[in-house]
Amino acid sequence: MFDSAKKEITRRGFMTKLGGGLVAANLAGVFLKDAAAEVRVPDPPGKKLGYAIVGLGNLAIWQILPAIAKCEKSKVVALVSGHPDKANKIALRYGVDPKNIYNYENYDTIKDNPEVDVIYVVLPNSMHAEYTIRGFKAGKHVFCEKPMATSVADCQAMIDAGNKAGKKLMIGYRCRYEPYNQAMIEMARSQKLGPVKIIQTDAGFNIADPTQWRLNKAMAGGGSLMDIGIYALQACRYLSGEEPTEVNAMEYTTPNDPRFKEVEESINFQLRFPSGVLANATSSYGCEYRSHFRVLATKGYFELDPAMSYTALRMRVYDGHELSEPNISPRDHFLSELEHFSQCVMEDKQPLTPGEEGLRDMKILMAIYEAARTGKTIKLA
Ligand code: NDP
Repeated sequence: MFDSAKKEITRRGFMTKLGGGLVAANLAGVFLKDAAAEVRVPDPPGKKLGYAIVGLGNLAIWQILPAIAKCEKSKVVALVSGHPDKANKIALRYGVDPKNIYNYENYDTIKDNPEVDVIYVVLPNSMHAEYTIRGFKAGKHVFCEKPMATSVADCQAMIDAGNKAGKKLMIGYRCRYEPYNQAMIEMARSQKLGPVKIIQTDAGFNIADPTQWRLNKAMAGGGSLMDIGIYALQACRYLSGEEPTEVNAMEYTTPNDPRFKEVEESINFQLRFPSGVLANATSSYGCEYRSHFRVLATKGYFELDPAMSYTALRMRVYDGHELSEPNISPRDHFLSELEHFSQCVMEDKQPLTPGEEGLRDMKILMAIYEAARTGKTIKLA
C-alpha cells in the first residue's frame, strides 16, 4: 500500500517536471527506470548450508521446514523418513530433489551426497544418539533436537563422535535464540532490579494419545521431565548464569491413568546455586498448558508468561512500584537457531548450545530422577 502510493506520487511529480514535450513511449521508458531505482532490492542469497531433516513428524513438518524455507544461510536439500509417500509430498513442497530422499536403512549413504552439510535429527529421544553418531560418521555436522539423548553415556558418545569427525554439534534449545528469553537473561545479568534471589519455572501440558512414544520409557527416556521439564531446568541455569550444586525432587503420577504406565506425570524440583540463588521448578504432563519463568530479585521481579510457546511470549517487569511490559520484537525461534548454527559452521565457531550443554542438562535430569526416587538431596559435581 505504502509502496504503491509512493510510486504514484513519484510518477506525478516526474510528469509535472517533464511537461508534455516527450512522446508517451519515451515517458514510460524513463519512468520505469526511475521507479526501479527507488525499489529496495534485497541482496541475492549468499552461501546456504544444505540440511537433511531426519524424521518427518510434527516438529519437522510444522515448525522446522517452514522456518528453514525463510532462512538466509540454511536450506533443506534432503529428507530421511520411514514413510516415502510423506517424504515425496514434502519434497515437492520444498523443492527437494527426489534422489535426496533417504530412509533409515540407507541413511549412511548420505556421506556420498555433497549437497548435505548438516544433519538435523528430529526423531524420538532414544534415537538421537544413534542418528547423530551415524551423521558424524557420514562426515556431516549435526543439529540435534532436545533432549540431547536419554542417558549421560549417550550424550558423551555423541560429543566424542563429533570430536573424532571434526564436525560441530548443536542442541536445539530454541529459547536461547529468541529475544524474550534473551531479555530475561539480560535483565538478570544487569542486576537492574538487584541481585537475583529466587527463580521459579513451570512447564506443563495435558498429554493426550496414550500410545505415543513420549509415554514409552524406552523411547522417551522419561516422562514430562525429559520432554518439557528440561525447559524449566534450562531456564534455571541460564537465568542464574550458574551451575546447580544440589538438587531435591518429588514426583507424582496419578494411579491407573492409562497415559502413565511407564513414565512420570509430574515432577517438582529445587536447585541450589553457588551464589545462594534457589530455584523451584515444575514439569507436568497432567495439567492445562503452562509455561512460566519468574525471577525474584531484591527490588522487584521479572517474568515470562507464556515463556516457551513458539509465539506470543509476554514479558512483565515489576520494579517495586509498577508493572510494565517491555516492547520486544519477536523472532522465529527455529529460524534463529538454524541461522546461528549455519553461521557457526561457516565461520568455524562454537555454537551457543553445543553438545556439552545437552550433557550438562542430562546429568542434572538424572540427578533429579535420583532425588525423586530416593527422597534425598543429590549433590552435583
Ligand atoms: P513426532 O512423533 O511427531 O515425530 C517423530 C518422527 O520420527 C516420526 O514422524 C517419524 O518420522 C520418526 N520416527 C522414526 N522412528 C520412529 C518410531 N519408532 N516412533 C515414532 N516416530 C519415529 O515427534 P516430534 O516431532 O514432536 O518430536 C521429535 C523430536 O523433537 C523429539 O526429540 C522432541 O523432544 C523434539 N521436539 C522439540 C521441540 C522444540 O520446541 N524444540 C518441540 C517438539 C518436539 P518418519 O515417519 O518420517 O519416519
